[in-house]
Amino acid sequence: MNRDILSMTLEEMTDAFSEMGIQKFRAKQVYEWLHRHLACSYDEMLNLPKLLRDELSEKFPLYNCEIARKQVSKIDNTVKYLFKLHDGDFVESVVMKYKYGYTICVSSQVGCKMGCAFCASTLGGFKRSLLPGEILSQLYRAQKDLGERISHIVLMGMGEPLDNFENVMRFLALITDEKGLNISMRNISLSTCGIVPKIEELLKRKMQLTLSISLHAPTDELRSRIMPINKKYDVDELLASCKKYAAETSRRISFEYAMLAGVNDSDDCAKILASKLRGMLCHVNLIPVNEVAESPFKPSSAERVERFVSILSKNGINATVRRKLGSDIDASCGQLRLKENQNCKKGDE
Ligand code: SAH
Repeated sequence: MNRDILSMTLEEMTDAFSEMGIQKFRAKQVYEWLHRHLACSYDEMLNLPKLLRDELSEKFPLYNCEIARKQVSKIDNTVKYLFKLHDGDFVESVVMKYKYGYTICVSSQVGCKMGCAFCASTLGGFKRSLLPGEILSQLYRAQKDLGERISHIVLMGMGEPLDNFENVMRFLALITDEKGLNISMRNISLSTCGIVPKIEELLKRKMQLTLSISLHAPTDELRSRIMPINKKYDVDELLASCKKYAAETSRRISFEYAMLAGVNDSDDCAKILASKLRGMLCHVNLIPVNEVAESPFKPSSAERVERFVSILSKNGINATVRRKLGSDIDASCGQLRLKENQNCKKGDE
């Protein structure tokens, strides 16, 4: 039995080790090396005998990701990493500096199945879901490389986190573990295109994380045109589960709304949106859509965005326009994709 060590809890590691006749305290040591000291290999674990390190690396592979490329924005120091996974696949992560600290935007899948019309992650198709340890590893490698503590996480990179539910839940358990980096659940946001049964499932876990919903349109007619998931779970169904989520967790829901010129940015859209969100503990994040070469959408003008905000505000809905970071390195929302995949693979040959 081979088990991916970075995805195991301390309890699982302890049990697996003792089944192999390895003393319990070794599990604690290994866990600390991995999740506290962010070790990249068993060879770094110097308080373990060499024989044991060799045995462990054979039985429990350490699926780290490696930095294949790093780009730093000249405008705002946002850093985009291209990570190579153990099987040669690639994912991207972005680290942004805010007043309150460093935030990492991590990927949860290689590619995406959701097919949103304006998003780059969907273009190359779907390859696979990431293991919990592969999501962790993006943060660990970035933190080590930057030499700075990353305090906030957004699950808003490539992929749909709720389409990789169990692995994402395990990632959350490990990253918030006090024996690991102990990041507060309140500092973590999970963004979804709206897989309603999974939102309900998330609700059952009663976690204090922030739920972000990629809404992008207030009516079914419009939303189904740009987000195929809406044909499965419509706007009313989605908003009903959000209302329940906000009420039961007392956590404010964040609605993402990419402003697409002439598509979803009319006064009417703002009014319908406001009426549908009324009474909910929520916030709307407006993002002038980031242009993706192959997609036809253009960002709304600054005046349009301002007018949209003012209609929402007049109707009692809290809305802000998201600041664009890393625009010179294609690190903004929805721009992460695997176009480097081919180049990097070629480079390796
Ligand atoms: N699958 C998840 C998380 C990944 S996308 C989700 O759908 O929420 C992260 C955010 O970027 C989502 O809100 C997504 O809708 C948005 N996004 C995608 N493409 C974009 C683009 N071109 N411009 C602006 N935002 C975009």
